[in-house]
Amino acid sequence: MSIAENIQKIKKEIPESITLVAVSKTKPIEDLKEAINANHLILGENKALELRDKHEVLPAKIQWHYIGHLQTNKVKYIAPFVHLFHAVDSLKLIKEINKQAVINNRTINYLLQFHIAEEESKFGLDLEEAKQIIESETYKELKNVQCVGVMGMATYTNNEEQIRKEFKELKNTFNLLKEKHFSNDLNFKEISMGMTNDYKIAIEEGTTILRIGSLIFGERN
Ligand SMILES: *Cc1c(COP(=O)(O)O)cnc(C)c1O
Repeated sequence: MSIAENIQKIKKEIPESITLVAVSKTKPIEDLKEAINANHLILGENKALELRDKHEVLPAKIQWHYIGHLQTNKVKYIAPFVHLFHAVDSLKLIKEINKQAVINNRTINYLLQFHIAEEESKFGLDLEEAKQIIESETYKELKNVQCVGVMGMATYTNNEEQIRKEFKELKNTFNLLKEKHFSNDLNFKEISMGMTNDYKIAIEEGTTILRIGSLIFGERN
């Protein structure tokens, strides 16, 4: 099936209230244009310079999501236009995003990434670390950034129960933060979870943003 057909098929399966981020990392511009021509304008990348370069040659109307781990020295390349940072896991990074947001005279939205997988290698916070960030004086002084929710990646496994358990954990973390720290903040409403392998489970467990790559664009090299 073509990229356009893949997108149409997935969109039929998901409720309209869920945002579909088509993850185009490593894929050539022609592939991204195919998605855009099918009227899909929400794209995700995980390398700052690759994102900057793709942004430069594609229409301004695209909503770009940065889904990867981010080094502070790379924030400046994408801060002028990025729609949402998905994988924020330190106060240092939030400070840098705020600094670049000020320079660009805008507010930048981000998600706090939580570590929900069994694998050691995946980035992310636990609840205690997140609380330390949110309750810090520094955090409260940052006026050009807005935390709009949480993000996580489940273990890469065929074990559905395991994945479901991890998504439940993320949803629970979202609920706890909402109750304790964001109860008056209508912007705090997003749960970014679910990829090619596990998006159906993510829908059942309350995702609001799916990040799907290979099912749309094909396997990556
Ligand atoms: C690559 C990537 C995706 C998409 O993965 P697929 O399995 O190809 O759908 C989603 N989220 C993050 C953080 C990624 O790095």
